[in-house]
Amino acid sequence: MKVKLFLFLLLITVFVPHAFAAKPIPPSPIPNSVCIDAGHGGADSGTSNNDLIEKNVNLDVAILLETKLTGAGYKVFMTRRGDENLSNADRYNFCNDNRASILISIHHNGSSDTFVDFTSALYMKKSDVALANIVSNEVSNQLGITNHGISRFASGVLLKANMPATISEGFFLTSSNEYNLIKTSYRLDQEANALLSAIQTYFGK
Ligand SMILES: [Zn+2]
Repeated sequence: MKVKLFLFLLLITVFVPHAFAAKPIPPSPIPNSVCIDAGHGGADSGTSNNDLIEKNVNLDVAILLETKLTGAGYKVFMTRRGDENLSNADRYNFCNDNRASILISIHHNGSSDTFVDFTSALYMKKSDVALANIVSNEVSNQLGITNHGISRFASGVLLKANMPATISEGFFLTSSNEYNLIKTSYRLDQEANALLSAIQTYFGK
């Protein structure tokens, strides 16, 4: 009897704490910090329009945005600064490990129809919705193109991001109009300004 009781107590002390142990809480985010992810890279080019390749356009906008955010006092983490091959896991792990407050993945859309052009933003979890809406609204307003709003997208870099995250599809790179604007104006700077405004609005500044 005594041995059984002893074994019973031993089992309780060993297993009960595990059963009731809380899930590990992700470390608290760094205030006013933004993880910028330039979509595609390396062997993965994304969409294109003649000499304009999406991976390069995404990176150009990401670097412009980084400078603007840093100047406005934000802490910025960049998933890439060059033409690198990165998996989606590389991207969200990097942003999670750096405890960024939010994640913005910069992409541009593509279509076989060169007249198609609109802004949209993708989200995955409930806590992404506010950020995705602000990004989509701000970019469409400042670029002067139709806002198609937000859509749920259950894969990619959004899937395992700990923080509010969105994929910005600022405009269609395949649009002839956008091609001309990029070549003849500061279109990408305009887009980076719109993303800066969106982030400032999100953080309530
Ligand atoms: Zn893309």
